[in-house]
Amino acid sequence: MASNSSVIRASAPKLENVDELIDSVETFLFDCDGVIWKGDKLIDGVPETLDMLRSKGKRLVFVTNNSTKSRKQYGKKFETLGLSVGEEEIFASSFAAAAYLKSINFPKDKKVYVIGEDGILKELELAGFQYFGGPADGEKKIELKPGFLMEHDENVGAVVVGFDRYFNYYKVQYGTLCIRENPGCLFIATNRDAVTHLTDAQEWAGGGSMVGALCGSTQREPLVVGKPSTFMMDYLANEFGISKSQICMVGDRLDTDILFGQNGGCKTLLVLSGVTTLDMLQSPKNSIQPDFYTNQISDLLPIKAAAV
Ligand SMILES: [Mg+2]
Repeated sequence: MASNSSVIRASAPKLENVDELIDSVETFLFDCDGVIWKGDKLIDGVPETLDMLRSKGKRLVFVTNNSTKSRKQYGKKFETLGLSVGEEEIFASSFAAAAYLKSINFPKDKKVYVIGEDGILKELELAGFQYFGGPADGEKKIELKPGFLMEHDENVGAVVVGFDRYFNYYKVQYGTLCIRENPGCLFIATNRDAVTHLTDAQEWAGGGSMVGALCGSTQREPLVVGKPSTFMMDYLANEFGISKSQICMVGDRLDTDILFGQNGGCKTLLVLSGVTTLDMLQSPKNSIQPDFYTNQISDLLPIKAAAV
């Protein structure tokens, strides 16, 4: 018998009763980096685990805060790694930004200014919105002559900010002008992740750093569409008609994945195959406890479960 989750614990229990968890869940949401792959390397046992869950009729959804790729581009990454995952099973924060604008009926005659990479542009294009900015503004410079004034498009009704390796002062000023001077202009963040893993050698400043720059200049807080905000969860629950109590969020980060699952009222499973170690989970400084933790998702496979 699994323990009662209403019991307050110092630290989350290790997942023991795998079958009980699988039987109680209809949809598994997986974070990608640190759960499915690490950088460009598939984590051991992932294909078998996904196959097993599918054979039991579970719906699988892949949720990532990375906005640099579109759903289609992510699909390619899965394919390269030998995983067959449909575009409609992938929820990247680039897609979430476009889906959010659709959900509020953002006017098609208004424009979106993008601080971010190709993934956001591609999703806005697919959704039929007018947009500009992105990588194209990466080379732009400001020439501060006396009296210089930057013009901006008064038809911009939303500024979407995501991770942007071509971030510069031009983009900050342009986005700031739109948000501050265009009445009702929305400020949307794909995510506020502090760090990201551009290479496996160190942690790199994440999307939160670009968003933070605009918060500083506009003195406004963005609407966040990625984890841990529940927008994607609500969207999924609506789209597929799933009850949130039958969703299990599986991730390697406490402050995004596990918090996202908890904010959405789902079950949560932390895997130790990514950035969080057992010490970090059990540290008295950590206040975010998943329902369960396990080493990696292949622990859901029956053979491994029996061997524990
Ligand atoms: Mg991750």
